[in-house]
Amino acid sequence: MLEVKDLHVTYGGAVRALQGVTLSLPKGKVAALLGSNGAGKSTLLRTISGTLRMHRGAVTSGTVELDGGSLLKRDAAAIVTSGVVQVPEGRRIFGRMTVEENLRAGSVGNASRSSRGRLQDEVFEMFPVLADRRSGRAGLLSGGEQQMLAIGRALMAEPEVLLMDEPSLGLAPRIIGQIGRVISDINSRGVSVLLVEQNATMALDVADLAYVLDLGRVSLSGSADELAGTDAVRHLYLGES
Ligand code: ATP
Repeated sequence: MLEVKDLHVTYGGAVRALQGVTLSLPKGKVAALLGSNGAGKSTLLRTISGTLRMHRGAVTSGTVELDGGSLLKRDAAAIVTSGVVQVPEGRRIFGRMTVEENLRAGSVGNASRSSRGRLQDEVFEMFPVLADRRSGRAGLLSGGEQQMLAIGRALMAEPEVLLMDEPSLGLAPRIIGQIGRVISDINSRGVSVLLVEQNATMALDVADLAYVLDLGRVSLSGSADELAGTDAVRHLYLGES
């Protein structure tokens, strides 16, 4: 279980990006994190993944724990080794490298060659299109394929918890549907997922529970079905009038 309690985060003291966020991601579940621009979604993911300091942010109080152990004292590499792995926003694949080289870059340092091979086979099984293009340059893949490669790269680190920052961004509706199915598939293999999304329809469809962040605070939370039924979520995030 990933648990965030009363978390306060600031950038340079002046910007109070998170102001007492409490949420949890139970083992084996998918939690959706919704909220408008600037609500603090990326800040929360950065804090969990240990990359906040790279963005000049700092935790002023609160806790982030995985199965009772604090993640706040660990650096980003140690957090990956603990099983918490982020699929980066904007995909950030290495365009000049091959698909296979990108996947290899995702495996953690202590993985043996045979476990790397096994994980890569699993990724290729999940994304046959990547297997077909394994020796091709990643930069030549379509947007959807690059997103799949970014997800595949994160899976190479054998996550227990996958953090996803807007995987549907900039993709066509048909591809967004595929990404949703991929998330459900990954989750059915026992991986918990914290899914930040602007696309609330897809997110609430695949999620078990959901949180809405508003100006650095959780303004709504509940089961995904409950939230999909509330007026606020329907109007603001599902585009219903
Ligand atoms: P978006 O969907 O636009 O990325 P978000 O919900 O992810 O929004 P954050 O990016 O976490 O929101 O931003 C929360 C607040 O912190 C905003 O007021 C934002 O301007 C500010 N902020 C984010 N990153 C930094 C930074 N590196 N330095 C200063 N302020 C920042």
